[in-house]
Amino acid sequence: MHVTQTYWLEHAWLDTHVEPGVAVDTADGRITAVRSEVTTPPPGAEILRGLTLPGLANAHSHAFHRALRGTAQVGSGTFWTWREVMYATAARLTPDTYHALARAVYAEMALAGITAVGEFHYVHHAPGGTPYADPNAMGEALVAAAAEAGIRITLLDTAYLSSGFGQPPTTHQLRFSDGTADAWAERCSVLKDRDHARIGAAIHSVRAVPADQLETVARWAEERRAPLHVHLSEQTAENDACREAHGCTPAQLLALHGVLGPRTTGVHNTHLTAEDISLIGSSGTGTCMCPTTERDLADGIGPAVALQNEGSRLCLGSDSHAVIDLLEEARAMELNERLRTRTRGHWTAAALLRAASADGHAALGWDEAGTLEPGALADFTTIALDSVRTAGPLPRLGAESAVFAASAADVSHTVVGGRHVVRDGVHRLVPDVPKALADAVAALRG
Ligand SMILES: [Zn+2]
Repeated sequence: MHVTQTYWLEHAWLDTHVEPGVAVDTADGRITAVRSEVTTPPPGAEILRGLTLPGLANAHSHAFHRALRGTAQVGSGTFWTWREVMYATAARLTPDTYHALARAVYAEMALAGITAVGEFHYVHHAPGGTPYADPNAMGEALVAAAAEAGIRITLLDTAYLSSGFGQPPTTHQLRFSDGTADAWAERCSVLKDRDHARIGAAIHSVRAVPADQLETVARWAEERRAPLHVHLSEQTAENDACREAHGCTPAQLLALHGVLGPRTTGVHNTHLTAEDISLIGSSGTGTCMCPTTERDLADGIGPAVALQNEGSRLCLGSDSHAVIDLLEEARAMELNERLRTRTRGHWTAAALLRAASADGHAALGWDEAGTLEPGALADFTTIALDSVRTAGPLPRLGAESAVFAASAADVSHTVVGGRHVVRDGVHRLVPDVPKALADAVAALRG
C-alpha cells in the first residue's frame, strides 16, 4: 500500500533558519518534497501550527531508571549510593513489567518530541543470571514497547561481564552478564533489525567488560556496521581503578583494543585528560552528553567544547530520566559551559538542535533522519509558539525560542515515519500516558 500525506508547517526549521509556510510531502514514511512559500495549507494537509523541527533523538536511555524518578532524590550521597537504589529496581524487572514500563516511558518520550531512542540495555537475564526461555526476551520487550509507543529504537545490546577490574559480577549484576563476550555476541546476533528498530552494541564500561573481551564486542559492531556505545569516564573512581589495573586511562584502554572510531559514541566523557580528548576527537568517536543526569548524579561537567574542537560529534541523552526533555538537555550543555567559563555563546541554538536531532540520529545508526529534506525519514516534532513559555512576538523567529525557552510540555505534534503519533499534545497510541507510567511504576514497587 502506498501511503502519502502532506503536512503544512506554519514555521519550519530548515537546518539554518526558520521558514514560514512550508509544505512537506511524505510517502511511505519518507519525505518526498519540501515546498517553501506555501502561504495557505493545501487541501487535505495535516496542519502543524507552531515551529516544526526534525524529530529529536534521545541517544542514551535506560528505560527502567524512570521508576526512580523522585524517589531517588531523598537523602544525600553520590553516584555510587544512587546506584544501589537503581540496582534494587533492576532486580524486580521481568519481561512483562519491563515491557509495560518501557512502553509508558517511550510514550512520554513521544510526547516530548523524541522520535528515536538509543536504549543502552543490559538487564538481559532472570535474577541470578538464568537466561529466559527466549534469551532475548528483555530486549524484545523493549523493541515491542517502542513500536507500541510509536517511536524508533536502536537497541544497544550491552556487554556487562564484571563488577570491576578482575572482579566477577555482584549478586545484582548476575542478570546483566552473559559470562563472556563471545556468549554476549552469540545471544545478540539473533536479534534482527525491523522497520522501527535497529540493533547496535554497547560496552557497559571498562569496569564491566574486561580488557581481553573488548575486541570481541568492537569486532561484532564493526562487522555489522552497527553503532557501538560505551559509558566513558563518568566517574573519577573508574579512572583511578583503570590506571591501577592497566596503567592507563579508560579512553586509552578503549583505543588500545580497537573500540574508538566513527561508529563509536562515548557516553558522558566527563573526566578526561587532554590526551583522552585528542584520542576521542582524532578517532572520530562521538560524545553523548547527558547533562540533566550528570547534574542529578553530581558527576561533574564534561569538556564538551574541547571534545567538539578535537573532532568529536556531540549528541544528547536523558539517560536516567530524572527528566525527559531533550530541549532541556540541549540548553543545559550550553548553560553548564557558561557556569564553568563565565562566558556565553559556546553553541548557537542551531548547533544545539543539530546535537538533539541529526547528530543524535547518526549516533544511533539512523543517518537518514534528523533533517527536513527530501529522502529523509518523515520524523518531525512541533513546538507550540503560543504557550506561556513561548508566547511573545519575535522580530525574527529562529531556533532560540525552542532551545532556550520551550520545554517538553510545549511539544504539540510528533510525527514518526509519516505517522502522527502525538497530535495536539495527545498520544494517539497510548491513551493515558500518566496512568500507564503510574501503573508500571507501581507494579515494580510490588
Ligand atoms: Zn547510562
